Amino acid sequence: MRRFRLALFLAAATWICVGCGSDSPTGPLGPPEPITIAVRYTSPFTEAQQSLVANAVDKWSRALARAPQDFRLNSGANSCFAGEPSLHETHRGLLVFVSVGAVDGRFGVIAFTQVCGVSSSDTLPMLSHIRLDKDDLPQMEADGVLKSVFMHEMAHALGFGPQSYLPKGLTGGGTSDPFFLGRTARAEFAKHGAWYTGVTVPLENTSPTGPRDPHWRYNVFRDELMVPSVSRGPRAPLSSITLGLFKDLGYDVDFSVADSYEVTPLWGNGIAPEANLGNDFVVTGPPIVVRPIVVR
Ligand SMILES: [Zn+2]
Repeated sequence: MRRFRLALFLAAATWICVGCGSDSPTGPLGPPEPITIAVRYTSPFTEAQQSLVANAVDKWSRALARAPQDFRLNSGANSCFAGEPSLHETHRGLLVFVSVGAVDGRFGVIAFTQVCGVSSSDTLPMLSHIRLDKDDLPQMEADGVLKSVFMHEMAHALGFGPQSYLPKGLTGGGTSDPFFLGRTARAEFAKHGAWYTGVTVPLENTSPTGPRDPHWRYNVFRDELMVPSVSRGPRAPLSSITLGLFKDLGYDVDFSVADSYEVTPLWGNGIAPEANLGNDFVVTGPPIVVRPIVVR
């Protein structure tokens, strides 16, 4: 079974935000409510493809809640990624651009996500971009993995990545045995992976970047949604462990949205290991920080 590598690229260092929220009234944020995810396409997508994006938005919106926040944006075209339109608007919650274009040809990076902006109030993303490689898109559809790819990349767009958990001090273990140490994710892992004797929750360790590799360890988690591979078929479950990570990041979480999942070691099932995933993402700088307007 062919598996794809997924990649996260964080490339927001050159994004220029002119006066983003700088003149906005601010104050205490309201109580959490289901997150708002606005999707904007900058490339043609078929109805079938857009329905898969809508599926991801629906599931994540049911799973996560956050204090409502509006953001005022005033930025030039191509500020965060090539093809980005200029932004002169106020929007609520997370705005996600979705595009398809050339990346690296077939069988390399099939998709990546950039976090372009985060809220100054909770450091969670408010502007992200998901790019699909145009040379891999037909094969993704043929193999039936596109639904899982959108779910996976949307998780990165929402904050499953080092730009969210490193500033909060939620990792340890260096580069050889990186782990996520949020208490909720650890508690959920203990419920479903008691066999594991290492430090929890294990992050991917086959790249030389330690906790900057924003995935669960494939050898431990196998087919969970946030490992750095995706398999053919309907699996890639969204586990309560992944939702626990989002809880540790600051979201409110509805754990009833999680799919059934038990941590299942790769080696115990005799499945051939994947190729090394080193260097499958690049961090070029921090996302821009935008002050929210209070929603009343
Ligand atoms: Zn990923």
